[in-house]
Amino acid sequence: MARRPIKNETGIDRILLENSNVHDAWSVYTCVNCKTINFVHIGQELVSPAFAYQNFEWECSVCGFVHSKEADLPSSWINWKPELLEKEELTAERFWQAFFRISTEKPEAYWKQCNVCGRILPNSAFSKHKGFGPLEKQMECRACKGAINAVLNCQRTSEQLRESSIRRRIADMFVEEYNERIDVQALFDRFGGKCFKTGKILDINKTGSWHIDHILPSKYLYPLTVRNAALLSSEANSNKRDRWPSEFYTPQELVELAKITGADLSLLSSPTPVINTHINVNRGVDRYLNVRNSNTDISKRIIELKKVIQQYNLEDLLDDEHRLILGEII
Ligand SMILES: [Zn+2]
Ligand SMILES: [Zn+2]
Repeated sequence: MARRPIKNETGIDRILLENSNVHDAWSVYTCVNCKTINFVHIGQELVSPAFAYQNFEWECSVCGFVHSKEADLPSSWINWKPELLEKEELTAERFWQAFFRISTEKPEAYWKQCNVCGRILPNSAFSKHKGFGPLEKQMECRACKGAINAVLNCQRTSEQLRESSIRRRIADMFVEEYNERIDVQALFDRFGGKCFKTGKILDINKTGSWHIDHILPSKYLYPLTVRNAALLSSEANSNKRDRWPSEFYTPQELVELAKITGADLSLLSSPTPVINTHINVNRGVDRYLNVRNSNTDISKRIIELKKVIQQYNLEDLLDDEHRLILGEII
């Protein structure tokens, strides 16, 4: 199989599959005579068991035995009475009907080729991908996908993760003084004891099964307040994460959410995130520079602060004293 040079950042290339499309279906069977595993290219159209039984003649690549309704079962099957092996017998007929049904009865019965490792593998070796070929599966097998993801995740780690964790720490510190204590029982009452996204009934005593969602994310400098808290199941919350409400909730849900919490609907519905500027950036800077037990020295922390203040366009909220502390940043 020829290697096709495709530019990608992972260092793991796709291979060119000869005479087949990556999404094609394959049938796989074990030869009844010599027990060799054989692969049969089916293509983009799955076939019915009746069609397969009527039309297929699968010739074993090793011993040449032809698998079809016109074949006697192999004479090497000495544990069968010889007359049961003849193609005219009901035993042989039923055998061949089921033989072809096993390989074609449903999409899960088919196999597919991975365009990274080149192996033809059972349907279950591929993750689902809606609309990709007759089997609706991804191009690469789950094993290769695991390797590709390892490279991609690794590229994201180090620098990127470090930066986003610093930004998160600074954002948390900027809003810290505005956080309110959330009365969990009152929160459950407001949301009827249900996950606001999925409607799943939640048990207040099972901590870990539910979360208090920051409706407007702290990433955009919103504190956790009674008005900014929603009750979500832990699954729904892990989908929401730092997303802006309009990116996660439907318009009807946003209306409902504003009703329950008293939050500002126009802000919730904004198509893009809006940074909260109703915070005291100066006090936030003080807090970040005065953190105890920080491994990062002051000059580094000043650089981090400047970067985040610029990213959030908060320069105008600094007073002269803090402008001086951070050095001219505009
Ligand atoms: Zn064979
Ligand atoms: Zn693979």
